[in-house]
Amino acid sequence: MFNKILIANRGEIALRVVRAAREMGIATVAVHSTADSDAMHVRMADESVCIGPPAGTQSYLSVPAIISACEITGAEAIHPGYGFLSENAGFVQVVEDHDLTFIGPTAEHIRIMGDKITAKDTMKKLGVPCVPGSDGGVETLADAKRIGEEIGYPVIVKATAGGGGRGMKVAQTAADMEKAFHTARAEGKSNFGNDEVYIEKYLTTPRHIEIQVFGDGKGRAVHLGERDCSLQRRHQKVFEEAPGPAISAEERAAIGKTCADAVARINYIGAGTIEFLYENGEFYFIEMNTRLQVEHPVTEAIFNVDLVREQIRVASGMELSFHQEDLKITGHAIEVRINAEKLPNFAPCPGRITQYHAPGGLGVRMDSALYDGYSIPPYYDSLIGKLIVHGRDRPEALARLKRALGELIVDGVDTTVPLFHALLEEEDVLSGGYNIHWLEHWLETNLGES
Ligand code: ADP
Repeated sequence: MFNKILIANRGEIALRVVRAAREMGIATVAVHSTADSDAMHVRMADESVCIGPPAGTQSYLSVPAIISACEITGAEAIHPGYGFLSENAGFVQVVEDHDLTFIGPTAEHIRIMGDKITAKDTMKKLGVPCVPGSDGGVETLADAKRIGEEIGYPVIVKATAGGGGRGMKVAQTAADMEKAFHTARAEGKSNFGNDEVYIEKYLTTPRHIEIQVFGDGKGRAVHLGERDCSLQRRHQKVFEEAPGPAISAEERAAIGKTCADAVARINYIGAGTIEFLYENGEFYFIEMNTRLQVEHPVTEAIFNVDLVREQIRVASGMELSFHQEDLKITGHAIEVRINAEKLPNFAPCPGRITQYHAPGGLGVRMDSALYDGYSIPPYYDSLIGKLIVHGRDRPEALARLKRALGELIVDGVDTTVPLFHALLEEEDVLSGGYNIHWLEHWLETNLGES
């Protein structure tokens, strides 16, 4: 086992890793930009190293600065959290070249899954069901139009390098194809440096269901069921739960096994998430994330496991601490993402926190790096906390979420908390009867968002 690890991230996820490491007796090194000198992850880690100015590109994304911080502190392994360098195959290669350990999959796994066309192709070969669409990249508008006719509209044009909901454009009819094709290409080029696109059938009423998998790198892998992340704004998740209200035990066992077998066959190591759209009882693969997800705590709650601990264990060469048959679901868990954003337009709202009070009590977990007097810097993601509740069943989890949101105090900045208070009054949310488009419609109707 490692003696010391470095955490190449900030905010709540950096704290999350510090906590797991400390329970395992592993020392931690925080890295931070000059804007984060007072951040909680810096205060909580055993050591810290300033790695650059505020801009992410010059600090949390600076590979030389992070490798140097490892060398200075003697850290043996790097946990990337999510975002930043977590799915950067080039970074993993550099880490390995410096005889350090990346806590995550190999550069090759990241490379395969980071390119959506290659990922889809690989998954298809491994027996995972995919959304019908173009086989591979689409080069010209003429091809795009032909494929649109073949698949049948509506279709979605996606940048193969896309992520975070960017680089995707829907064409409702053939008349929209030219614009969708060129816009998706342009977004791919400007955001990800790659203008290759592919085309998929656009599903009109799917749920977003993702399967958590874990591999030991030696050909053994397990699944930890699904998360339903259908409540989304601009293709970004805001409310996640496990188990999925629409998924039966039989469906879970079947799709879970398909996913675990697929990643076992590629000797996958570490945590991964295989994302699907689910419509009319069918699963359609959309992408795989080769890292810990923001919403991993709902899985931890229902399976009573520490996924970060497992990541660190397998990265150090140890076995996973459970087998498939040990993994049993208990109750229901929900996470809401609390962002420093001002409704109705969700404009980022950085600033000073004048008062922070975290909710507590039975079945409540608050993962946040906030504290009284903390100033949220304007340079990074607006996620400031995740409230996770666990109950014996879905109604109890919902009641607990409402109670816990009522206890939470974040003063000084606007947050998305009022959105969740409002959603918890909605019959469709209470019954679980929504698909990935529900929230967009609700926001338009209730907040006048478009
Ligand atoms: P990203 O990598 O940007 O997160 P994904 O491929 O994971 O992109 O898709 C994100 C979200 O976009 C999905 O959860 C879903 O809401 C929507 N989406 C993606 N593909 C389709 C599709 N074929 N039909 C309908 N919605 C889609």
